[in-house]
Amino acid sequence: AELYVIYTVIRSVMDGNDSCRILLLPVIAFTVLGVADGIIDHFRYLPQSTYLTTFGMFFFAIFVLNLLWRSMKREKEVETMADRLKNEAVAAERRIYVDAVTGCYNRSRFDISMKEAMALAEQTQEPLTMLLFDIDFFKRVNDKYGHDVGDIVLRGFAETVRSVLDREQFIRWGGEEFVVLCVGKSLDEATDFANLIRRRVKSATLYDDLTITCSVGVSLWHHDSAEAFFKRADLATYKSKTSGRNRVTNERELEN
Ligand code: GH3
Ligand code: MG
Ligand code: MG
Repeated sequence: AELYVIYTVIRSVMDGNDSCRILLLPVIAFTVLGVADGIIDHFRYLPQSTYLTTFGMFFFAIFVLNLLWRSMKREKEVETMADRLKNEAVAAERRIYVDAVTGCYNRSRFDISMKEAMALAEQTQEPLTMLLFDIDFFKRVNDKYGHDVGDIVLRGFAETVRSVLDREQFIRWGGEEFVVLCVGKSLDEATDFANLIRRRVKSATLYDDLTITCSVGVSLWHHDSAEAFFKRADLATYKSKTSGRNRVTNERELEN
């Protein structure tokens, strides 16, 4: 019977069962020690109360300890794999939703950001405002210094804006246009905030001695559609452009 057990265990080892490799140790040990006990008992070599088979327990203990060690190792591997998958998911989301030039959320993320901001505003009963930035005469930067410098300037602009943001969402709407969504700022507070950013941008040196300005439109969400909310910011930005650039207009000033 023990030979059959050994045969079965060896087959399992050959099938790739690693635990059975260690199981071979106690199985062979019990067999050898059992046979030895039989011979010793038969020829009465040792006192009758001495049985070597008992020592087989040590080999069995090695097998059990090995099983425990393996299961701990496996657990650690699963943990590492879960961490890796999580990091990969974060990296994949970054690739899809983050603009490579500026590190801002991109246009694909805009709808999600908008929904998140609206849900938060509903939940906290706070106002939701939008700042729409358009860099002034940006084409001239490209024309004069080249596209690469244009990218450096865009990155510098984004860093300047980001340095004053707290929990606001910052999205590159496209080209040289950016959106900031603020939950918790009224129209007037958002207008002041936009002016603060506008001044920071104006005084920042983004490349050599090159400085830029931006025109901003500010709108308040009236619990209407995202499109209407954006449209008001867009019209306000347009008004900032047509009334001289480097300025902030909010939706209330559109009526005048
Ligand atoms: P305005 O004050 O009226 O806004 O003038 P503008 O020159 O900023 O506006 P316009 O729409 O005429 O030009 C925007 C320019 O932005 C044109 C395009 O070459 C540039 N641009 C858009 N995306 C990028 C980009 O990713 N990198 C660089 N370097 N330039 C870009
Ligand atoms: Mg533009
Ligand atoms: Mg522009």
